[in-house]
Amino acid sequence: MQVFNFCAGPAMLPPAVMQQAQAEFINWQDQGVSVMEVSHRGKPFIALANQAEADLRELMNIPDDYHVLFMHGGGRGQFAAIAQNFLGDNGKALYLTSGQWSKSAVAEARKFADVDELDITFATEDGKGAKFPALDPSQGDYRYVHYCPNETVDGIEIFEEPNAPWPVIADMSSCILSREIDVSKYGLIYAGAQKNIGPSGLALVIVRKDMLKLPKLAMPSIADYQITADADSMFNTPPTYAMYLASLVFKWLKAEGGVKAIEQKNIRKAATLYDYIAKSDFYTNGVATENRSRMNATFQLLNSELDGEFLQQAEKAGLLALKGHRIVGGMRASLYNAMPEQGAIALVAFMDKFAKANQ
Ligand SMILES: *Cc1c(COP(=O)(O)O)cnc(C)c1O
Repeated sequence: MQVFNFCAGPAMLPPAVMQQAQAEFINWQDQGVSVMEVSHRGKPFIALANQAEADLRELMNIPDDYHVLFMHGGGRGQFAAIAQNFLGDNGKALYLTSGQWSKSAVAEARKFADVDELDITFATEDGKGAKFPALDPSQGDYRYVHYCPNETVDGIEIFEEPNAPWPVIADMSSCILSREIDVSKYGLIYAGAQKNIGPSGLALVIVRKDMLKLPKLAMPSIADYQITADADSMFNTPPTYAMYLASLVFKWLKAEGGVKAIEQKNIRKAATLYDYIAKSDFYTNGVATENRSRMNATFQLLNSELDGEFLQQAEKAGLLALKGHRIVGGMRASLYNAMPEQGAIALVAFMDKFAKANQ
């Protein structure tokens, strides 16, 4: 049976990448050993790391005045690292909140420094939305403003590019590489890998070089951007197997036509699902039209007593991990880059069948 995995994270990886990883699992580049068994200081692995960085730079059009760092500790590791790297000498920062992840980011930053929080959500007739606000330098002396363009749990995505009088830091864990962005609009972009990049544990950081001049706090060396940059992301042993898989995902994405092409595919997948829900009197979506996430489509059954039955039958039909996050309930279909268009089509076909059988 064909299975489609809608898990929000760790998420499915492209089947072609998994097959290549399987084929070379115990014999990488004819060395007779796995890529996870070789030194990160050896020529073959350094070549892999350099190629991964070059491919990512090409995919995202990253300017030369930005470092690309491969770090440990996933997305949440960066919640702390950002405050530690930039908020020394009593520095302040502004955190915009639009859902679960941006709220978690503020809570972590507060352990280290004095930060302000601004709720950027609003309610319309069709649901909850969020907007990057107009900001004025007189609002505060901030080292940076942090926000989360795609709230993975809530299904709220902000598509407009940010504009602020301070450097913008974006948690792109669940939307990186899903659509074209202008990297030069950001002081720092980061992402846990397990949605659009590779396995969990790895974190990707894209940081403008001048940001590293900001005063920092005392912190573990592995969290320090300057130390990581100076060591080409190899201050200590990097998560080599995760980097290998990320390198294959970047190559796959280039072969798919890059970010521009995958964005068109992502638009079609999301439209397949949202257009169906909009027409339905059995399912509903509580997010404002302009903020409906392309990566994490949240939806509810109007009769929530059928939730359990829906999930059970979906799983039997090979449609996995559709249960919404425990905090918000309902359903969530994550449609990351690796999800084929047939996945969205199969989901809608199942939803329609289930609705007709239970109307
Ligand atoms: C998944 C996710 C995280 C957390 O990533 P971890 O690797 O589990 O720490 C942070 N922010 C967003 C937006 C996410 O989707």
